[in-house]
Amino acid sequence: MSLLFSMKGIVKHFPTSRGVVHAVDGVDLEIERGEVLGLVGESGCGKSSLARLAVRIYEPDAGCIELDGVDITHLDQAGLRSHRTRVQMIFQDPFASLNPRSTIGRILEEPLIVHQRGSSTERRERVRWLMDKVGLRPEAAGRFPHEFSGGQRQRIGIARALALSPDLIICDEPVSALDVSVRAQVINLLDRLRDEFSMSYLFISHDLSVVEHVADRIAVMYLGKIVEFADRRSLWRAPLHPYTRALLASVPSPVAGVARKPVPMRLVEPPSPLAPPSGCRFHTRCPYAQDPCRSVVPKLGTLDGTKRQVACHLVDSEEPEFPAPNF
Ligand code: SF4
Repeated sequence: MSLLFSMKGIVKHFPTSRGVVHAVDGVDLEIERGEVLGLVGESGCGKSSLARLAVRIYEPDAGCIELDGVDITHLDQAGLRSHRTRVQMIFQDPFASLNPRSTIGRILEEPLIVHQRGSSTERRERVRWLMDKVGLRPEAAGRFPHEFSGGQRQRIGIARALALSPDLIICDEPVSALDVSVRAQVINLLDRLRDEFSMSYLFISHDLSVVEHVADRIAVMYLGKIVEFADRRSLWRAPLHPYTRALLASVPSPVAGVARKPVPMRLVEPPSPLAPPSGCRFHTRCPYAQDPCRSVVPKLGTLDGTKRQVACHLVDSEEPEFPAPNF
């Protein structure tokens, strides 16, 4: 696989009347061609801001975004138009993201019109093809969004994202608004489309059990920072960061009758991104916190002999003054 997309040192703060929200604070991530990178974390940790930075809805305060080795951080309007044909987004609420006054056919044709793709006959044919690809009857192209179920509306959102044959789709909580019974169908659809078209996804969810089904690698985000990167299997079997461990502890064990090891953590309200804690941002909730955790920011270090990265003093071999983890 080759590198498709990268974000380096991305920072995004939002000034508000109550102070500055530290939404994203120095995030690095890379997505290979054909890879699904899962991004998990609680609500408010900065995942959706990162998604909007990736498609350049938001402008980063600092950092660099590259697509296929080309710096796209400060594209002008013309450059952004071309970028958006290659990086598309699927939103959490399919109903809110679809124009209620447009037919599905019109909604799916619109990106083709905007980007001047094909004749009107070719565009109509493309719309029928897109609907078929996502499991909708092409004859329904004349219907409006409110005439579809939640799962069908998300299929429409997926078809719209596919319209311009992008290389990367940013999936921002694509199944969290759906009934449990429909989630698996949409996840299976995304999986099938990825295989068929060799696409890459940045798949964002607050639910590790959802990400576990689709991602090759997983990044765990806490209060604007990535705290752990690992391939899916390693993360699932042996989470290293105490926050990842706590997230996983709330997910049912994949082995029937075998409970996960309990984590002594009080899942109280997370701190406000208006005033992130000093040192390790997780120290106010971490059962393993030591004094230095309150003042020294842990680096996202790579574990010897692996591709795993963790930002925790207890698992950083270069921080010998910390006691061995008692996990
Ligand atoms: Fe917990 Fe300290 Fe590790 Fe942060 S650095 S996760 S507070 S042990």
